[in-house]
Amino acid sequence: MAKLYIIMYHYVRDLKNSRYPNIKGLDYELFKQQIAFLKEHFTIVAMEDVIEAWNSENGKLPENAALLTFDDGYIDNFTAVFPILKEHKVQGSFFIPGKTFTENVLLDVNKIHFTLASAEIHDLVKDVFAFLDQYRSEEAGNLIPANEELFEKYAVASRFDTKETIFVKRILQTVIPETIRNRMSSELFRKYVGMREDKFARELYMNRDQIRCMKREGMFIGLHGYDHYWLGNLTEQEMHADIDRALEVMDGLIDKDNWVLNYPYGSYNLNVMQYIASKGCKAGMVTKVAVADTEIHGRYELPRFDCNDFPPKSKNYLNMQ
Ligand SMILES: [Zn+2]
Repeated sequence: MAKLYIIMYHYVRDLKNSRYPNIKGLDYELFKQQIAFLKEHFTIVAMEDVIEAWNSENGKLPENAALLTFDDGYIDNFTAVFPILKEHKVQGSFFIPGKTFTENVLLDVNKIHFTLASAEIHDLVKDVFAFLDQYRSEEAGNLIPANEELFEKYAVASRFDTKETIFVKRILQTVIPETIRNRMSSELFRKYVGMREDKFARELYMNRDQIRCMKREGMFIGLHGYDHYWLGNLTEQEMHADIDRALEVMDGLIDKDNWVLNYPYGSYNLNVMQYIASKGCKAGMVTKVAVADTEIHGRYELPRFDCNDFPPKSKNYLNMQ
């Protein structure tokens, strides 16, 4: 297989005129410009072409092949992205957590995004510290390290987030036990966003009919776990259960012998890779940044660029060959 530029998108919306202009996403106008740029300089390929190139001896991708991937099943995918892709006659691959369209429940990851977009980060860090203090005073919480120690360990800036933001995200995503994280992110969501979670979820995610419609129109639908967990941090049993449940609700939307998983938060390990391979998965996508190349990467560890790495946002992709 030749080299492949896999590009990752999350929210794509008219940010300025939306209710949450600070949400980390790509503005709709810039998205349109980006697709035009990609069409001019790359060949946008379909996921089926990529799987075929892996499966057959002489399957090859065109020069400068690009694959568009959209995470989390947001309604933006249907209302903003899908019409543009249709117009340009190119395919997008949509990776949808099973829970979003089956339960009308707001995922913790999204409670955190919209809380971060609605609050001052220093207030949030204080709130998280206060929650941790309270949790430590409960019986189950007495093993949690001190606030300073947690901050030291988890407050590490990423390419797009400050260290304070990463600290809040990590604590609420994975560091403390799930029931407590769940409670904390719901309380913060209530305090700063102030909407009912079920109502918010109904507005935020695509429903099954919309996903079906995109599939019918040639888009590719892939797995993104069921509960949007850090799969690499689960016990083997929990990891199996999450993937099995995702496969179950994706029935009819995916080919059970030829599916693709995009690891939530890019979190995976050898057990995860072996399990999905045994279940018919043909490729796994991570969040490491590089050009995907079969000579270098395994099919279950395909790296992806962020949409911010391409014009009109930047030309970072040129420095990451
Ligand atoms: Zn995700």
